[in-house]
Amino acid sequence: MNKPPIYVTQPSLPPLEEFIPYLEKIWENKILTNSGPMHQQLEDALAEYLGVNYVALFNNGTNALLTALQALDLTGEVITTPYSFIATANSIVWNGLTPVFSDIDPVSLNLDPSKVEEAITEKTTAIMPVHCYGNSCDVAAIQKIADKYGLKILYDAAHAFGVKDSGGSILRHGDLSVLSFHATKVFNTFEGGAIICHDKEMKVRIDRLKNFGIVDEMTISGAGINGKMSEVNAAFGLLQLNYIDAALEKRKNIDEIYSEKLNGVKGIKLVGKATGQESNYSYFPILIEGEYPLTRDELYEQLKGEGVFTRRYFYPLISDFSPYKVSSLFSLKNLLEARKITRRVLCLPIYPDLKIETAKEITSFIKGYE
Ligand SMILES: *Cc1c(COP(=O)(O)O)cnc(C)c1O
Repeated sequence: MNKPPIYVTQPSLPPLEEFIPYLEKIWENKILTNSGPMHQQLEDALAEYLGVNYVALFNNGTNALLTALQALDLTGEVITTPYSFIATANSIVWNGLTPVFSDIDPVSLNLDPSKVEEAITEKTTAIMPVHCYGNSCDVAAIQKIADKYGLKILYDAAHAFGVKDSGGSILRHGDLSVLSFHATKVFNTFEGGAIICHDKEMKVRIDRLKNFGIVDEMTISGAGINGKMSEVNAAFGLLQLNYIDAALEKRKNIDEIYSEKLNGVKGIKLVGKATGQESNYSYFPILIEGEYPLTRDELYEQLKGEGVFTRRYFYPLISDFSPYKVSSLFSLKNLLEARKITRRVLCLPIYPDLKIETAKEITSFIKGYE
């Protein structure tokens, strides 16, 4: 029997014919990029959907991270997590800044605020936490530290589209938050991203920096990049927004099946969601513990044999990749929890079109090995 492979994610796409009228509009007005009408509409629609003040669209999340760091006018060291996608740290380096990796909390898998304080030096100017898997960081504790030491906070919120806490969108926390609309993310525009900011002045600053720093023909505000989202991507985002609530609902159903079927399985630990949070079910990470009959890598290989391609997000730690291993600043001895988790984690397939039956089958495989 030759079943199609099941990957950790699959992009959700709206009906193709619904995209045609958007393209016709673009063909009519011949505006392809540079903050055209689709771009403007999507910024407004996303600000409303997410419940945030300002959205600055980008051509990808990485350029949004680069520009967010630049807009905050930082120097020296930025404290961040080693347990994330490589772009988190790369964007710090691209700004000529030094990433300092601090350990994670073993329950939330986000930066542990109590360790952040130990990592602060006189060169530290910012903290860059990640809402890993869309689970909110301890935003109150992080804000407290930032206030005490006069640091900026930039959240890498690439996983956190649509996540809310009791006060509203978690994107309202910190100085800036960055989203990714990459094909593999909960809300995609093929490629894309955004910076969420709280005031008009910052929005203007970011809008200039993403357009080469251009203010007018005679004035450049800074060494900006080309981070602009095209009209085609923005139009696609507008169409995607019509389907996002249904997509989140389907993800929730998959999440419930996994949680129900894997809860209590010996050696399988589920990563809990932050309490009081409205999740986006972007990932379904499990931790493989000693009592489980297989190691994490053995389980990964076994499932691959069944045509189920899970992912070891996040392994290796960013601090273990060669560009980051060299300096003593990226000290290994302080990352004990991250080091344990990275060897045990496995992310199971979760996406709107994943069949409930398939999710159940995956849990049967996991329960069946001995
Ligand atoms: C996806 C991702 C990014 C990068 O976003 P792109 O849109 O792919 O450039 C950055 N940080 C994290 C945590 C991500 O998962």
